[in-house]
Amino acid sequence: MTTNMAERSRTAETGSDIGGDDIIAGNVSKYTVLPAGYCGQPKKGHLIFDACFESGNLGRVDHITEFEYDLFIRPDTCNPRFRVWFNFTVENVKESQHRSMVETNAGILNQINQVGLKHKFLLRVIFNVVNFSKTKSLYRDGMAPMVKSTSRPKWQRIPSKNVYYYHCPDHRKNYVMSFAFCFDREDDTYQFAYCYPYTYTRLQHYLDNLQRRNMDYFCRELLGLSVQRRQLDLLTITSPANLRPGAEQKVVFITARVHPGETPSSFVCQGIIDFLVSQHPIAKVLRDHLVFKIAPMLNPDGVYLGNYRCSLMGFDLNRHWANPSPWAHPTLHGVKQLIIEMYNNPKINLEFYIDIHAHSTMMNGFMYGNIFEDEERFQRQAVLPKLLCQNAEDFSYSSTSFNRDAVKAGTGRRFLGGLLNDTSYCYTLEVSFYSYIVAGTTTAVPYTEEAYMKLGRNVARTFLDYYRLNSLVERPLAPTPKTRKEKEPLFKGATPQGQGTGQVGSKLEKRNQTHPKDQSLPTQ
Ligand SMILES: [Zn+2]
Repeated sequence: MTTNMAERSRTAETGSDIGGDDIIAGNVSKYTVLPAGYCGQPKKGHLIFDACFESGNLGRVDHITEFEYDLFIRPDTCNPRFRVWFNFTVENVKESQHRSMVETNAGILNQINQVGLKHKFLLRVIFNVVNFSKTKSLYRDGMAPMVKSTSRPKWQRIPSKNVYYYHCPDHRKNYVMSFAFCFDREDDTYQFAYCYPYTYTRLQHYLDNLQRRNMDYFCRELLGLSVQRRQLDLLTITSPANLRPGAEQKVVFITARVHPGETPSSFVCQGIIDFLVSQHPIAKVLRDHLVFKIAPMLNPDGVYLGNYRCSLMGFDLNRHWANPSPWAHPTLHGVKQLIIEMYNNPKINLEFYIDIHAHSTMMNGFMYGNIFEDEERFQRQAVLPKLLCQNAEDFSYSSTSFNRDAVKAGTGRRFLGGLLNDTSYCYTLEVSFYSYIVAGTTTAVPYTEEAYMKLGRNVARTFLDYYRLNSLVERPLAPTPKTRKEKEPLFKGATPQGQGTGQVGSKLEKRNQTHPKDQSLPTQ
């Protein structure tokens, strides 16, 4: 059985200027696209589209020709404004077919035919994603959709030469992203996605595996349930001594995936967790001195449903921190309650809050911070991103900015920045959906899953640099140490890194002179 969304759409099309989103109610389900007027049994080459799986998203397919299809992203549930994330499969493809004349409304076929022509004529299909809600996109800068197939299960980016992003008069206000693809194996099912998927189930498996390791410094608890009763997980990573009754705690609180389509955020978050639970000496020092609280998926329903920005009920949860409702925004409500409890506990100092996102138009990793009247506090807030910039070649301090736009007032970073005291720092950590540019070069290096995780590991270890530096900053009147030996690190047993001078400015200058290469750490 097919949902036959395209059929319904065509008859119901009334000229909505958002591409017919009002009539896209769900994902296509094993939908065989037949040529207009075709009545017989489906044949090989009549493509079958499916998005009825976890994090899937494809709302409608229009047959243009045998070689060209218009694709419609299913808008976020209960919120038609957001149409960015797509994730669907295609099967019943036909390999090795003589190329025939194909007309395209975008006029891109000529370009396509000039590139990548192989000895064998493959079925070269053009997909036009026609209802993006964004106009600016990294597609203009070389980003390309991801693809994998049954026999090649590792995600790859489609070559950017086969991807076109343009303003299309045929689709009213929308920008269209077209890509050409050769199906080369008839028995394969192909999957296409906006970026590397990271599902709710994947997170659950990952956390189950961590739990099975019985680490005494790792604890997973259920902080609450989403509207559709999925788990809001909370991890605590610290040495058991820090959890004894009455112990003072310095807390670093990290959240991710409040925006469900921002999958890189989960890879970065997993990188942080992997590092913190590892046997790396820095991880051990961090566990001994800090308590890490991590909520790795703030919007599990949105992730499951394949939304880009919203929850099941169509809320952008990152605009509701000021007054989250226990029934409409239960996961956000749960996290906020916990943070307020910690804030009210005199034994707990919440020192950092970091909310991890992905950015659809910027390169690199970078941060957003807050603006404070107190100049010293403002400067101190800049320390962590400056240090991270030294540790992560993909992190850009120059893209990091501090703001108080009204539009961001309901974000976690802004709200908690106003609530917490002047020794707490709140950031949004952003990472590009596409690529980073290494300092001193102009080449865009596309992110891989591993590169996102590496950024997470670098974030984690930067806390050690911060606290080592902080111990010096906090004692400005102490006699200036004459030798390195006299510089007592805040964390006993800390492994010194490089020849740090203990001063941000000079460390940064040093980096600029030397451009240290990969300083990443093993995952272990
Ligand atoms: Zn976001």
